[in-house]
Amino acid sequence: MHKGMLVVVSGPSGAGKGTICQEIRKRNPNLFYSISATTREKRVGEIDGVHYYFIDRQQFEKMIANDEFLEWADVYGNYYGTPKKPVFEALARGQDVILEIDIKGARQVKKTYPEGVFVFILPPSISILEERLRKRGTEREEIIVKRMQMAWEEIANCDWYDYLILNDDLETAVNDLEAVLTAEKLKPKRVNYRVLLEGGVLIR
Ligand code: ADP
Ligand code: 5GP
Repeated sequence: MHKGMLVVVSGPSGAGKGTICQEIRKRNPNLFYSISATTREKRVGEIDGVHYYFIDRQQFEKMIANDEFLEWADVYGNYYGTPKKPVFEALARGQDVILEIDIKGARQVKKTYPEGVFVFILPPSISILEERLRKRGTEREEIIVKRMQMAWEEIANCDWYDYLILNDDLETAVNDLEAVLTAEKLKPKRVNYRVLLEGGVLIR
């Protein structure tokens, strides 16, 4: 059986990664969505074990020491990391996996797992990005300022990704991500067709 495909989605805070990934999961219920561990405060409405595993710095550092992360990074002053085991188990089962992680984490995954598919979500403009982040209403003012400062740097360093998706119209952006998944799954290294020929069966 073929291994699943690892898809990494990054982009500045407020670009719409979460919204797009939520839609893509509705369309592809078999996608395995990796739940990250983080030391940041839980937002209103977030559930431990659903949106993130909310842990303290000491627990996080213990997981680093035990080599439990596929990647981890300090993002906007908090630790975030992808627990390795569930991701590799899902891939081994043949399930496709989606990681929603920052650019530093994505670079680490690119090094250790270059066969992954790397997608960057772009906002239509910096002012729309800021407007979306403010409208979401989940961050305090100083955190919004910090995230906006980082956005420039992140966007300036996105040219190594395999795909750039513009999130202007949401439906178009979700369709684009779906098109990426469809095309990537048709790459010869990932297909497992049985080619029926006259008089015999060829199995790749
Ligand atoms: P991220 O996960 O990248 O930080 P979110 O998915 O939380 O971003 O999106 C930030 C805010 O922008 C949310 O309030 C979301 O509803 C809104 N949003 C996302 N995509 C669009 C879009 N295409 N048009 C308008 N608003 C959007
Ligand atoms: P938020 O606090 O808005 O949920 O996420 C902040 C940033 O952390 C986003 O860019 C998000 O993609 C990133 N992030 C979430 N989980 C992980 C993770 O496991 N690893 C890394 N490197 N970044 C993550």
